[in-house]
Amino acid sequence: MSSIIQLLPDHVANQIAAGEVVQRPASVVKELLENAVDAKATDIKLIIKDAGKSLVQVIDNGAGMSVTDARLCFARHATSKIRQAEDLFSLHTKGFRGEALASIAAIAHMEMKTKQDQEELGTHIVIEGSKFISQEVAVLPKGTSFAVKNLFFNIPARRNFLKSDTVEFRHVMDEFQRVALAHPNIHFTFYHNGSEMFNLPAAGYRQRIVGIMSGKTNEKLVPVSEETEIINIQGFVCKPEFAKKNRGEQFFFVNDRFIKSGYLHHAVMAAYDGLLKDGSQPSYFLYLQVPPNTIDINIHPTKTEIKFDDEQALYAILRASIKHSLGQFNVAPVLDFDRDSNLDTPYHYKDLEGETPTIQVDGTFNPFTDDKTNQHYSKSGSGSSYASSSGSGSGSGSYSGYSKRVEPTASWESLYVGLETESIESSPFTFENEEVTSSLFNDEDVEQASQKTYQIHKKYIVSPIKSGMVIVDQQRAHQRILYEQFLLNMTVNQASSQQLLFPLNLFYSSGEMELIEELKPSLETTGFVFEGAQADHIVISGIPVNITESEVSLVIEQLLTDLQDGIPASSYSQNDTIAKSMAKSLAVKTGSYLTEKEQDNLVNGLFACKDPNISPFQKPTFITMRVEDIDKKFAL
Ligand code: ADP
Ligand code: MG
Repeated sequence: MSSIIQLLPDHVANQIAAGEVVQRPASVVKELLENAVDAKATDIKLIIKDAGKSLVQVIDNGAGMSVTDARLCFARHATSKIRQAEDLFSLHTKGFRGEALASIAAIAHMEMKTKQDQEELGTHIVIEGSKFISQEVAVLPKGTSFAVKNLFFNIPARRNFLKSDTVEFRHVMDEFQRVALAHPNIHFTFYHNGSEMFNLPAAGYRQRIVGIMSGKTNEKLVPVSEETEIINIQGFVCKPEFAKKNRGEQFFFVNDRFIKSGYLHHAVMAAYDGLLKDGSQPSYFLYLQVPPNTIDINIHPTKTEIKFDDEQALYAILRASIKHSLGQFNVAPVLDFDRDSNLDTPYHYKDLEGETPTIQVDGTFNPFTDDKTNQHYSKSGSGSSYASSSGSGSGSGSYSGYSKRVEPTASWESLYVGLETESIESSPFTFENEEVTSSLFNDEDVEQASQKTYQIHKKYIVSPIKSGMVIVDQQRAHQRILYEQFLLNMTVNQASSQQLLFPLNLFYSSGEMELIEELKPSLETTGFVFEGAQADHIVISGIPVNITESEVSLVIEQLLTDLQDGIPASSYSQNDTIAKSMAKSLAVKTGSYLTEKEQDNLVNGLFACKDPNISPFQKPTFITMRVEDIDKKFAL
């Protein structure tokens, strides 16, 4: 038998290695920016075209390379950054594998110009698909410029796999921001298709963060600073009231390198314990310095995960220092003040005082009270939903106030002012305090005789039906209803919108702005009305009728989160995704108290749906229990 094993030619090996290093234009951006930082540049320019698909260029004023190095840097495992295995444990550079340039050169057209400070002349090299095309001596400024064109020109499958420009641009932005945030002392500029996205002069951490993040970040930041023997922590966390729906603004840097760590994230969240509304995410920008020999960054090819020697100690220190900062900057009391009206009063005590509001409302019961009644109603409505959410420990915040959206209830309401006040003011609290159930039964027997639905555990709605009973999951049911409503509005009906008295200005990062631009046409079909085009914010002058003004930013943030991995190409699936996302953010949540009327509307609404059995996320919305099944249980 003849032997069949061969060593792969270099260009093939490089192409394979490239698969690991270069997934998309953003990977090239990351590698080139990091090389420039490693070369001790103080000024770095990033220029891209078509989200980096046609061009990624990085120009730095760093150390440059000698003629020999200029040629050698494209060889695999060619690096100036480590010489022996031990060096891996005292890394002070971003790169160390010596793979990036070889990999990129294997799958793109690449041009490099480089000159060292002390040299008269520099080197100009063109390399395409690992093949050296030319090498010349050239008159150049100090530093290095890499231009990478036509990424994946020789691997069509990979090129076709790239997402839309919007998505690829977003990834590039992410990488740019990570490097720029890690190195505020370097002047960065960033151009996309000829327009300047960022110009960030050398600065401190705070200015850099504000320079990169959208709008009024400065006032949201609380400094964190802690020095111990094993770790030095600097940076900022955001005040809890500015927490966001998504995790877009959470950054850890360890020894100036962006990293991801679920464990450290948990430490931050633990420091915020009790200060955040359910599901909201604080922004943070935390710079950790640890001795290089106590970490291992070698465990992941793209190097965003690292291993710490003493994770537990770091966890404790991080948590404590953030907690301390939040406390020191008086963040907690501000929030308490926001919540106190319903949080601090024990429920049963609240019950006892229930009389007073009834009298107040009766006093205003005259033909001119329409406004006030509504006002009172919505106040107590959202109040109770807030209190109930915090009571259950899995609060959904005041956004989920279902009552706010059920327009007909408000007018129906005015007929029964006194009655309704009672049921809204007192019943939620009575319901919650399980010790007083006996009195509840006595008082409300009469009312409940006509009641067809019952809410249990602020989660399910139970209703008798002919064959037995139906148990509806309130959150999923409402998602289904809203989902069908939105889809219908987007595809068949002309959605109506409510004009806002004062247009809303919402600030977003430029990556988010690009996404929103792309989504605008679909959002308009749901009833949103946008005004003009700005660089860093959107102006909304009209919103869909079934959402409230305070829910708008929530809806959009959820949408951005849901679409992070790409906007579906077809308009059908785009509508579907938007309808799902909006249904998710607007549906009444588990943990929200629903009035009888709301329960009723919900159940009726669900069974009026085209597809009532299943939520938009393919989960069952209700189950039924037949009387026989119940009988069987009792027969045991
Ligand atoms: P690594 O960064 O892991 O060493 P790379 O393939 O990214 O591997 O780069 C190979 C070598 O080329 C680097 O070690 C460095 O010596 C040199 N180099 C790359 N980019 C630059 C630059 N912008 N300025 C100066 N030298 C550079
Ligand atoms: Mg490198």
